[in-house]
This record gives sequence, structure tokens and C-alpha cells, in this order.
Amino acid sequence: MLPEEFLSSLEDSKGFEREAFEKIHASAGQVTSIRLNPDKFSIENVKFKIENKVPWSRHGVYLTQRPSFTFDPLFHAGCYYVQEASSMFLEQALSQTVDLSQSLKILDLCAAPGGKSTHIQSLISQESLLVSNEVIWSRVPVLKDNIIKWGAENVVVTQNDPKEFSSLKNYFDIIVIDAPCSGSGLFRRDPEAVSEWSLSNVKLCSMRQQRIIADVLPALKNDGILIYSTCSYSKEEDEDICKWLIDEMRIQNLKLKIENKWNVVESSFGYRFWPDKVKGEGFFLACFKKTGMDDDTPRKARKIPEQLNKKELAIISNWLGMDTLHFFKHENIIYMISGKHRAEIPILLQQLRVKYAGVGAGEIIHDKLIPGHALAMSSLLNESIPVNRLDHSHAIEYLKKKEIRIEPAVKGWQLVQYEGHNLGWINVLSNRINNYYPKELRILKEN
Ligand code: SAM
Repeated sequence: MLPEEFLSSLEDSKGFEREAFEKIHASAGQVTSIRLNPDKFSIENVKFKIENKVPWSRHGVYLTQRPSFTFDPLFHAGCYYVQEASSMFLEQALSQTVDLSQSLKILDLCAAPGGKSTHIQSLISQESLLVSNEVIWSRVPVLKDNIIKWGAENVVVTQNDPKEFSSLKNYFDIIVIDAPCSGSGLFRRDPEAVSEWSLSNVKLCSMRQQRIIADVLPALKNDGILIYSTCSYSKEEDEDICKWLIDEMRIQNLKLKIENKWNVVESSFGYRFWPDKVKGEGFFLACFKKTGMDDDTPRKARKIPEQLNKKELAIISNWLGMDTLHFFKHENIIYMISGKHRAEIPILLQQLRVKYAGVGAGEIIHDKLIPGHALAMSSLLNESIPVNRLDHSHAIEYLKKKEIRIEPAVKGWQLVQYEGHNLGWINVLSNRINNYYPKELRILKEN
């Protein structure tokens, strides 16, 4: 049962139809959708039964039922991300407001666990750089793991408070703020959250949302695009925030084209997703353009990151299939990022707490590379690396980090794959096979 105080607070929200809204919340129906990773996977490879496509996203599909993703090795290989369909509308916001084929710098400010970041990464060009930030320490590892799984080379993961971005004045072409909110849009999925809802929390969230936006806005370029979203139905967190932005900040509201058949409701400043109208959960999104004229601050990093010596470069190059990468060391890990982003790395390292960048190649110990899991998930490896194709049960044993009983033809470091997709590394010794699947990612559930 939804609280009366909550329902009556929505009465004058555009598109709210009390009876239908209550009915959909009372039904046990669940919508399951996934978004495919276009760099690894295509719709023909999906083994689950697809109901139809998510109308506002090229790579989003609805499934007829919720399978056990944990026991699908392709989920762990980063072939798709399990994501609520309404939030895939971000794709329309980005593709209708910016030419995504350009070289862009994008900030996803509230990024964990990485749904929007992996989506943004799939939409931007290789020449673009995504900074995926999460302020809460304990949520950074899951964000980093999802970015690694996605296999992208142009994402930097940071852990900073929004106000710490003010030192990057006029830096980003796009800032996405998927703000922390009161979460009413997810009541259907998480009925327990209903008991935590209160009008006073909505007000607190609204104040926090204003603070977050005001803190980060200096980092957006003049003419840059701001995309604001929440999974709350409350106008205090949605339209009221937009109104405050337009009235108080130098920012202009942008409209998107939506098709009638999508059933998305256009409200005064943004787009509302009501679960009784769309196949998805509650969501709100609005787009803006910064019109202010903040002064440009010339940015020069004082220090360049630690570089690799010739010997280290030679060791690592043996593993790679491309030679346009920029290498650097950060907190003992060797990172590789496209040479195009070389100039940005010292700036980001100087201004932010960088937790991950590009592809983590691993560590060189006694003149040998101990390859990182991220290297296996990337597309940077050369074809000479030996590969072992696993069947489903061996793949699950591997993902549980158990000993796997296979007979590789050669010794040394090699990949394990399932249906053509890398799962990770093994090191074959003369008397055993060491399973290098990261301990923190291993499947703990019994099947
Ligand atoms: N964008 C994510 C995705 O699509 O997977 C979901 C983000 S969730 C709605 C909001 C995020 O904001 C959470 O990860 C939360 O930890 C973070 N957050 C909480 N307080 C914050 C604050 N004061 N400033 C910035 N982010 C905050």
C-alpha cells in the first residue's frame, strides 16, 4: 500500500493517474530489460527470450522473464548490463542535444554502479573521454568493476565530491547528474523502500540536489550540456529543481523530440516516466544548455605521471595488438589509454582522486607482466595469446574461482573464453592451473 501523503503529493504532477498508478504498484508484474554492449555483443547473440526492443534505446531489449544472470558467463564477460528501461532514455537526451561523433569530455557525476556510465560509453566516440565519478567510497569498487567488464578504453573513474570539480572550470562538454533522490520511482521493485519515504526526506533530497548542481556547474563549458535525472516522482526533486536552475543559474532548458507511442509525459521542463504508461520504472530527465560566460582558466599540470621505461614498454607491447596507446603508472598499476587522451591524464591526476583509467594492464614483477583482469576484458590484446574455450560448467567453475579441470595445449598465461568472449586469465604451470579470476568478483551463489 502506498502512503496517502505520498499519493496526494503527486496529485498535480503531469501524467499522474492515481487509480492506474496504484493498480500497477499493487500488481506483482516485473519488467526485465538489458542493454547490450555494442563492442562485444549483438541482438542475434542473446539467448534469452526477447519480448521487444526498448523504444528509446538502440541496444536496450525487454526480456519475457528474468533469468539467472549470475549463471550466465556472458553477463560476467560484459556482453550486456541489466538496466531498468526508463533510464535508457538518457540516450535520447545525449543524441538529440550533442553531435556524439565529435571528441567530447563528459562527466557522469553520480555514477555508481555504472548503468548510465556504461551506456554513455557505448554512445560516444573513441576520441571522447568519460569521467565516471562516485563520491561514496564504498560504491567506487562496483563502478570500477562494471567499467572494467565493459572493456572500454576511454573511461576514467574518480572518487570526488561534486565541489572538487570546481577546479576544472569550463572543462566538460557534457555533465550528467543522475542525482541521489528519495527513490519513489523504484517502489514497484523495492516495496520496502515505501516505508522509508517521507515528505521531509524529499525536501532534504531536493536541497542536496541543488547543492550538487551548483557545485559542479563551473566545470561545464559555456554552451555545454547538462542532463539532470532522478528516479523520484516528487516535483520538489524534478520540475522545481529545473525551475531553480533556470531562474538562478545561467542555463537554458532544452526540449527533446518524443514519439507519442512511447507514452512518455512531457512536463514543464522535462520528461516523466510513469510505470502505468511505459514499460519501465519511474524516472525523470531534463536537459539544459549552459549560457554563462565563465572565464577560461588555462590548465597545466605541474607533474606528469610516472612513465614506463623502454624495457617495460617492450614487455607490455608483446601482449598488445595496437601501438597507439599512452602508458603510465599510477599507484603501482600500469594503465593504458588511447594516445588521444594523453594530455588529459596529468590534469585529471592532479585535480581529482583517480581510481582507475583506461585499461589497467597489470604489474611488471621480475621483468614479467602479471596481466590485470581488465586487460582480458579489453579489446587490446594481440592474437598470439593462447585461448581456452570453456563449456558452460567449466565457465561457471572458473567464475567461482575454483580449480578448473581442462588440458591446455601450452603452458603460461592464457585466456579462458565462453562463446567467444573472454572471462579472464589462467596461468598454466607444469603441475597445476592457477585461476586468476578476481576474488572479489567470484560467484558465491550455488546453482
Ligand atoms: N547513475 C547511476 C547508474 O545509472 O548506475 C545511479 C546513481 S544513483 C541514482 C545516485 C548516486 O549518487 C549514488 O551512487 C550515490 O552514492 C551518489 N551520491 C550520494 N550522495 C551524493 C552527493 N552528495 N554528491 C554526489 N553524489 C552522491
